[in-house]
Amino acid sequence: MDQAAHEFDDDSTLVARFSVVRALAVVGDTWTLLILRAAFKGTRRFSDWQNDLGIPKAVLTNRLDRLVEARVFRKSPVSKGGKRMEYYLDEAGLDLWETLVAMVRWSRRWYWPQSDDGLWFRHRLCGERCDVILSCNVCAQPLTPFNTYAEPGPGEGLEPRIEPHSRRRANSAIRHGQDALGSEEALTLFGDMWAPAIVASAFRGGRRFNDLVAYLRIPPLVLSMRLKELIEIGVLARRTIDDSERYEAFHLTRKGLDLFPYIAMMAKWGDKWRDDPSGVPLVFHHRDCGHEYTPLYRCSACGERIRRADLDILDTGW
Ligand SMILES: [Zn+2]
Ligand SMILES: [Zn+2]
Repeated sequence: MDQAAHEFDDDSTLVARFSVVRALAVVGDTWTLLILRAAFKGTRRFSDWQNDLGIPKAVLTNRLDRLVEARVFRKSPVSKGGKRMEYYLDEAGLDLWETLVAMVRWSRRWYWPQSDDGLWFRHRLCGERCDVILSCNVCAQPLTPFNTYAEPGPGEGLEPRIEPHSRRRANSAIRHGQDALGSEEALTLFGDMWAPAIVASAFRGGRRFNDLVAYLRIPPLVLSMRLKELIEIGVLARRTIDDSERYEAFHLTRKGLDLFPYIAMMAKWGDKWRDDPSGVPLVFHHRDCGHEYTPLYRCSACGERIRRADLDILDTGW
């Protein structure tokens, strides 16, 4: 380790505010993704999740409690005054559709090469098969990592580090749920708090090991493991830079850059639902039009804005 790493060895519990990480604290977990997927398909009851997912009772209780606390679900008794509860997607839960769509899209683009026209969706408004295009809410043009940038916002600052749901991966959940996202790799990536946080940091320019440790306060051993996995699945690549000093840098590959819509939608959700009164930690700008933006989806067939109720995900999965 070099000098920079030692500055952070005092292991402060404070970390820079980062909307994506706040969102990941809620949904960056394999079981949570599988619970949400089932909820979007209509599951409401504890016993149904338990039977369909084979999820241990204590884990399901823990995840549902967290999701109720995060206002993703609201619960109400099945019958008046009864003890059995039903869980409904609340506003914050329904709002996750944009993130979930981004996961499905990425997973299919990279793991379902058998049908690669990219038209995984149907837009009910125009009736056409379509792709979803991440677009600027001001000028309606497509957003990319290259025509956008982020700047510190009014809510910039430090907050207590968020602990992940679990330090270990739920391998049984991955085995059970890989069909949901089309691949084990996708579920391994999305069903984790740290891997997407590393990708989000890479979009912000975090390229060196010690930058990532400092920015995310991620335990170095966990960071090493996650970097190795992200390189293995082709999201990051490693390069040795020979500058005034010699160091290793990590950069997003094409497959990694294609996670931009997912990261953008996650940040949007984090800003909306995990915000505090001080305001957003980052403000996002669209270079092409010069405005601050909020991302939304437009239909590749008709160009209109896509709303949740107007989008079908075709074939299997979600
Ligand atoms: Zn714009
Ligand atoms: Zn359309």
